Amino acid sequence: MTKTLLISVWFATNIFLQCYSLGFDRMRMVGQHHIDENASEANIQPYFNAAFVKYETSPTVTEMAVEQSVKYIGLWDTTAPGNQRQNWSEKKANVNHMIQRGPHARQTVTTEIPTPQEWIDSESVNNLVKDIARTNITKKAQAWAERIMNENLASEAQWVIDNFPMGTIVAIEYYHPKFNQEANDVTDEWNINLSYEWLKVYVRNTRTRHPDGFFGNLQGTSYGNGRITIAKVTNPPNGEIDDLLTRKNIVHEVVHSTKDLFKRAEFGLGDHSTEPGLMDPQGTQHQFNTKEIKILRGMQQ
Ligand SMILES: [Zn+2]
Repeated sequence: MTKTLLISVWFATNIFLQCYSLGFDRMRMVGQHHIDENASEANIQPYFNAAFVKYETSPTVTEMAVEQSVKYIGLWDTTAPGNQRQNWSEKKANVNHMIQRGPHARQTVTTEIPTPQEWIDSESVNNLVKDIARTNITKKAQAWAERIMNENLASEAQWVIDNFPMGTIVAIEYYHPKFNQEANDVTDEWNINLSYEWLKVYVRNTRTRHPDGFFGNLQGTSYGNGRITIAKVTNPPNGEIDDLLTRKNIVHEVVHSTKDLFKRAEFGLGDHSTEPGLMDPQGTQHQFNTKEIKILRGMQQ
Protein backbone atom coordinates (compact mmCIF):
# COMPACT_ATOMS: atom_id res chain seq x y z
CA MET A 1 0.00 0.00 0.00
CA THR A 2 1.45 3.28 -1.07
CA LYS A 3 -0.11 6.68 -1.20
CA THR A 4 1.21 9.92 -2.47
CA LEU A 5 0.03 13.49 -2.30
CA LEU A 6 -2.57 14.09 0.38
CA ILE A 7 -2.99 17.84 0.71
CA SER A 8 -1.37 20.91 -0.75
CA VAL A 9 -1.86 24.20 1.02
CA TRP A 10 -0.87 27.78 0.42
CA PHE A 11 0.36 29.53 3.48
CA ALA A 12 0.06 33.27 4.00
CA THR A 13 3.83 33.47 3.74
CA ASN A 14 3.43 32.47 0.12
CA ILE A 15 5.40 29.27 0.72
CA PHE A 16 3.87 26.31 -1.03
CA LEU A 17 3.78 23.44 1.45
CA GLN A 18 2.88 19.87 0.67
CA CYS A 19 1.73 17.20 3.08
CA TYR A 20 2.32 13.62 2.13
CA SER A 21 0.97 10.38 3.44
CA LEU A 22 3.01 7.20 3.09
CA GLY A 23 1.63 3.73 3.65
CA PHE A 24 3.61 0.50 4.01
CA ASP A 25 2.75 -3.09 4.71
CA ARG A 26 5.12 -4.99 6.96
CA MET A 27 6.54 -8.48 6.45
CA ARG A 28 9.17 -10.49 8.26
CA MET A 29 11.26 -13.53 7.55
CA VAL A 30 10.64 -16.36 9.98
CA GLY A 31 12.02 -15.37 13.37
CA GLN A 32 12.98 -11.80 12.37
CA HIS A 33 10.92 -9.58 14.66
CA HIS A 34 13.00 -6.40 14.57
CA ILE A 35 10.50 -4.28 12.62
CA ASP A 36 7.35 -5.58 14.36
CA GLU A 37 7.33 -2.75 16.87
CA ASN A 38 10.05 -0.57 15.46
CA ALA A 39 8.18 0.13 12.20
CA SER A 40 4.87 0.89 13.93
CA GLU A 41 3.19 4.24 13.39
CA ALA A 42 3.74 5.12 17.05
CA ASN A 43 7.50 4.70 16.71
CA ILE A 44 8.07 6.13 13.21
CA GLN A 45 5.59 9.02 12.94
CA PRO A 46 7.47 11.28 15.43
CA TYR A 47 10.48 11.42 13.08
CA PHE A 48 8.25 12.79 10.31
CA ASN A 49 6.14 15.31 12.22
CA ALA A 50 8.36 18.30 11.47
CA ALA A 51 8.43 17.36 7.78
CA PHE A 52 4.62 17.23 7.53
CA VAL A 53 4.75 13.64 6.32
CA LYS A 54 2.21 11.12 7.57
CA TYR A 55 3.45 7.56 8.01
CA GLU A 56 0.93 4.73 8.03
CA THR A 57 1.40 0.99 8.24
CA SER A 58 -0.60 -2.20 8.23
CA PRO A 59 -1.86 -3.21 11.70
CA THR A 60 -0.20 -6.61 11.53
CA VAL A 61 3.09 -8.05 10.31
CA THR A 62 2.87 -10.87 7.77
CA GLU A 63 5.33 -13.72 8.16
CA MET A 64 7.02 -15.00 4.99
CA ALA A 65 7.25 -18.67 4.09
CA VAL A 66 10.16 -20.71 5.42
CA GLU A 67 11.67 -21.08 1.92
CA GLN A 68 11.68 -17.31 1.49
CA SER A 69 13.38 -16.81 4.84
CA VAL A 70 17.08 -17.07 4.12
CA LYS A 71 20.00 -16.00 6.23
CA TYR A 72 21.57 -13.97 3.40
CA ILE A 73 19.54 -12.56 0.54
CA GLY A 74 22.90 -11.84 -1.14
CA LEU A 75 23.53 -15.61 -1.44
CA TRP A 76 20.03 -16.43 -2.75
CA ASP A 77 20.25 -19.15 -5.38
CA THR A 78 17.07 -19.76 -7.34
CA THR A 79 18.58 -22.76 -9.10
CA ALA A 80 18.70 -24.68 -5.82
CA PRO A 81 15.15 -24.86 -4.44
CA GLY A 82 15.08 -25.83 -0.81
CA ASN A 83 18.74 -24.93 -0.46
CA GLN A 84 18.89 -21.25 -1.33
CA ARG A 85 22.39 -20.66 -0.15
CA GLN A 86 24.99 -20.69 -2.90
CA ASN A 87 27.85 -23.07 -2.42
CA TRP A 88 30.94 -20.98 -3.02
CA SER A 89 33.29 -23.95 -2.86
CA GLU A 90 31.88 -24.99 -6.24
CA LYS A 91 32.56 -21.58 -7.72
CA LYS A 92 36.11 -20.79 -6.79
CA ALA A 93 38.21 -23.09 -8.97
CA ASN A 94 37.44 -22.53 -12.65
CA VAL A 95 37.33 -18.80 -12.67
CA ASN A 96 37.68 -16.51 -15.65
CA HIS A 97 37.56 -13.11 -14.08
CA MET A 98 39.03 -9.84 -15.24
CA ILE A 99 39.93 -7.77 -12.19
CA GLN A 100 37.96 -4.53 -12.01
CA ARG A 101 39.54 -2.59 -9.16
CA GLY A 102 42.94 -1.74 -7.74
CA PRO A 103 46.47 -1.93 -9.16
CA HIS A 104 45.84 -5.25 -10.96
CA ALA A 105 42.74 -4.08 -12.84
CA ARG A 106 42.25 -5.58 -16.32
CA GLN A 107 44.33 -8.68 -15.52
CA THR A 108 42.53 -12.03 -15.73
CA VAL A 109 42.48 -14.57 -12.89
CA THR A 110 41.67 -18.26 -13.44
CA THR A 111 41.35 -19.47 -9.84
CA GLU A 112 40.66 -17.88 -6.47
CA ILE A 113 42.69 -20.51 -4.62
CA PRO A 114 46.32 -19.75 -3.72
CA THR A 115 48.68 -22.72 -3.89
CA PRO A 116 50.47 -23.98 -0.75
CA GLN A 117 53.75 -22.89 -2.35
CA GLU A 118 52.46 -19.34 -2.82
CA TRP A 119 51.70 -19.13 0.90
CA ILE A 120 55.19 -20.38 1.73
CA ASP A 121 56.82 -18.02 -0.75
CA SER A 122 54.83 -15.08 0.56
CA GLU A 123 57.01 -15.21 3.68
CA SER A 124 60.27 -15.84 1.84
CA VAL A 125 63.45 -14.01 2.83
CA ASN A 126 64.09 -13.56 -0.88
CA ASN A 127 62.29 -10.31 -1.64
CA LEU A 128 61.69 -11.09 -5.29
CA VAL A 129 60.13 -14.48 -4.53
CA LYS A 130 58.11 -12.93 -1.72
CA ASP A 131 56.78 -10.07 -3.87
CA ILE A 132 55.72 -12.35 -6.73
CA ALA A 133 53.86 -14.68 -4.36
CA ARG A 134 52.14 -11.82 -2.53
CA THR A 135 51.07 -10.28 -5.84
CA ASN A 136 49.61 -13.58 -7.04
CA ILE A 137 47.73 -14.16 -3.78
CA THR A 138 46.44 -10.58 -3.79
CA LYS A 139 45.10 -10.96 -7.34
CA LYS A 140 43.28 -14.17 -6.38
CA ALA A 141 41.83 -12.52 -3.30
CA GLN A 142 40.75 -9.53 -5.39
CA ALA A 143 39.03 -11.78 -7.92
CA TRP A 144 37.23 -13.59 -5.10
CA ALA A 145 36.13 -10.33 -3.49
CA GLU A 146 34.81 -8.90 -6.74
CA ARG A 147 33.01 -12.07 -7.75
CA ILE A 148 31.30 -12.50 -4.41
CA MET A 149 30.31 -8.82 -4.40
CA ASN A 150 28.90 -9.07 -7.94
CA GLU A 151 27.05 -12.23 -7.01
CA ASN A 152 25.72 -10.50 -3.92
CA LEU A 153 24.08 -7.76 -5.99
CA ALA A 154 22.63 -10.21 -8.51
CA SER A 155 21.32 -12.59 -5.83
CA GLU A 156 19.78 -9.80 -3.80
CA ALA A 157 18.07 -8.38 -6.89
CA GLN A 158 16.71 -11.84 -7.70
CA TRP A 159 15.45 -12.33 -4.15
CA VAL A 160 13.61 -9.03 -4.42
CA ILE A 161 12.04 -10.02 -7.75
CA ASP A 162 11.07 -13.47 -6.48
CA ASN A 163 9.63 -12.49 -3.13
CA PHE A 164 8.84 -8.85 -2.79
CA PRO A 165 5.47 -7.07 -2.93
CA MET A 166 5.53 -3.33 -3.63
CA GLY A 167 4.96 -0.90 -0.79
CA THR A 168 6.34 -3.23 1.86
CA ILE A 169 9.00 -3.11 4.54
CA VAL A 170 10.55 -6.55 5.03
CA ALA A 171 12.59 -7.64 8.04
CA ILE A 172 15.48 -9.77 6.82
CA GLU A 173 18.32 -11.23 8.84
CA TYR A 174 21.39 -10.25 6.81
CA TYR A 175 22.39 -9.13 3.32
CA HIS A 176 25.64 -11.02 2.98
CA PRO A 177 28.43 -12.40 5.19
CA LYS A 178 30.74 -9.68 3.87
CA PHE A 179 28.24 -6.86 4.31
CA ASN A 180 26.92 -7.40 7.81
CA GLN A 181 29.44 -6.82 10.54
CA GLU A 182 27.79 -9.18 12.99
CA ALA A 183 27.10 -11.99 10.52
CA ASN A 184 30.65 -13.31 11.03
CA ASP A 185 30.25 -16.33 8.82
CA VAL A 186 32.38 -18.34 6.42
CA THR A 187 32.20 -17.41 2.75
CA ASP A 188 34.74 -19.99 1.73
CA GLU A 189 38.40 -19.84 0.75
CA TRP A 190 39.18 -16.46 2.26
CA ASN A 191 38.22 -17.37 5.76
CA ILE A 192 41.85 -18.23 6.32
CA ASN A 193 42.11 -16.80 9.82
CA LEU A 194 45.49 -15.38 9.04
CA SER A 195 46.12 -11.71 9.54
CA TYR A 196 48.54 -10.82 6.79
CA GLU A 197 48.86 -7.07 6.96
CA TRP A 198 49.91 -6.93 3.33
CA LEU A 199 46.81 -8.69 2.05
CA LYS A 200 44.20 -6.11 1.09
CA VAL A 201 41.43 -6.13 -1.50
CA TYR A 202 39.65 -3.19 -3.06
CA VAL A 203 35.96 -3.33 -2.20
CA ARG A 204 35.27 0.06 -3.74
CA ASN A 205 37.53 2.07 -5.97
CA THR A 206 39.54 3.48 -3.09
CA ARG A 207 38.41 1.50 -0.06
CA THR A 208 40.48 -1.55 0.85
CA ARG A 209 39.71 -4.33 3.30
CA HIS A 210 41.35 -7.52 4.48
CA PRO A 211 39.51 -10.35 2.68
CA ASP A 212 38.78 -12.00 6.04
CA GLY A 213 37.14 -8.85 7.34
CA PHE A 214 33.74 -7.46 6.48
CA PHE A 215 33.51 -5.10 3.51
CA GLY A 216 30.78 -2.76 4.64
CA ASN A 217 27.89 -2.74 7.06
CA LEU A 218 24.62 -2.62 5.16
CA GLN A 219 21.61 -2.18 7.44
CA GLY A 220 18.79 -1.17 5.09
CA THR A 221 18.02 -0.87 1.38
CA SER A 222 15.30 0.78 -0.70
CA TYR A 223 14.69 -0.81 -4.11
CA GLY A 224 12.09 1.57 -5.52
CA ASN A 225 8.29 1.35 -5.58
CA GLY A 226 8.25 1.42 -1.79
CA ARG A 227 10.13 -1.86 -1.42
CA ILE A 228 12.46 -1.83 1.58
CA THR A 229 14.56 -4.40 3.43
CA ILE A 230 15.81 -3.83 6.96
CA ALA A 231 18.53 -6.09 8.37
CA LYS A 232 18.89 -7.17 11.97
CA VAL A 233 21.20 -4.94 14.02
CA THR A 234 21.94 -5.80 17.61
CA ASN A 235 23.70 -4.27 20.57
CA PRO A 236 26.84 -5.97 21.78
CA PRO A 237 27.35 -7.76 24.06
CA ASN A 238 23.81 -8.87 24.94
CA GLY A 239 22.73 -9.39 21.31
CA GLU A 240 19.38 -7.68 21.73
CA ILE A 241 17.90 -5.72 18.83
CA ASP A 242 19.15 -2.13 18.65
CA ASP A 243 15.73 -0.47 18.54
CA LEU A 244 16.90 3.10 18.06
CA LEU A 245 19.22 2.22 15.19
CA THR A 246 16.56 0.00 13.61
CA ARG A 247 14.02 2.86 13.65
CA LYS A 248 16.55 5.24 12.16
CA ASN A 249 17.30 2.72 9.40
CA ILE A 250 13.58 2.38 8.68
CA VAL A 251 13.09 6.15 8.47
CA HIS A 252 16.18 6.55 6.25
CA GLU A 253 14.97 3.92 3.78
CA VAL A 254 11.36 5.12 3.85
CA VAL A 255 12.64 8.57 2.90
CA HIS A 256 14.72 7.12 0.02
CA SER A 257 11.56 5.43 -1.24
CA THR A 258 9.67 8.73 -1.31
CA LYS A 259 11.64 9.67 -4.41
CA ASP A 260 9.31 7.35 -6.37
CA LEU A 261 6.21 8.29 -4.40
CA PHE A 262 6.22 12.06 -4.67
CA LYS A 263 8.11 14.82 -6.38
CA ARG A 264 10.91 16.21 -4.31
CA ALA A 265 14.48 17.41 -4.68
CA GLU A 266 17.35 15.00 -4.04
CA PHE A 267 19.21 15.46 -0.77
CA GLY A 268 22.54 15.34 -2.60
CA LEU A 269 24.71 12.89 -4.50
CA GLY A 270 23.07 9.46 -4.36
CA ASP A 271 20.07 11.07 -2.62
CA HIS A 272 22.18 11.59 0.51
CA SER A 273 22.78 14.81 2.47
CA THR A 274 26.25 16.31 2.50
CA GLU A 275 25.76 17.79 5.98
CA PRO A 276 25.13 15.63 9.06
CA GLY A 277 21.53 14.48 9.10
CA LEU A 278 19.30 11.46 9.01
CA MET A 279 19.86 11.32 5.26
CA ASP A 280 23.64 11.56 5.16
CA PRO A 281 25.19 8.31 3.82
CA GLN A 282 25.54 6.76 7.28
CA GLY A 283 22.42 8.38 8.75
CA THR A 284 24.55 9.80 11.56
CA GLN A 285 21.85 11.95 13.21
CA HIS A 286 18.68 10.84 14.92
CA GLN A 287 16.53 13.54 13.37
CA PHE A 288 16.24 15.34 10.04
CA ASN A 289 18.36 18.46 9.63
CA THR A 290 16.79 21.74 8.51
CA LYS A 291 17.52 21.22 4.83
CA GLU A 292 16.13 17.67 4.90
CA ILE A 293 12.90 18.92 6.46
CA LYS A 294 12.52 21.57 3.75
CA ILE A 295 13.03 19.03 1.00
CA LEU A 296 10.47 16.67 2.53
CA ARG A 297 8.04 19.54 2.84
CA GLY A 298 8.38 20.06 -0.89
CA MET A 299 10.49 23.19 -0.71
CA GLN A 300 13.59 22.95 -2.84
CA GLN A 301 16.20 24.20 -0.38
ZN1 LIG B 1 20.87 5.93 2.14
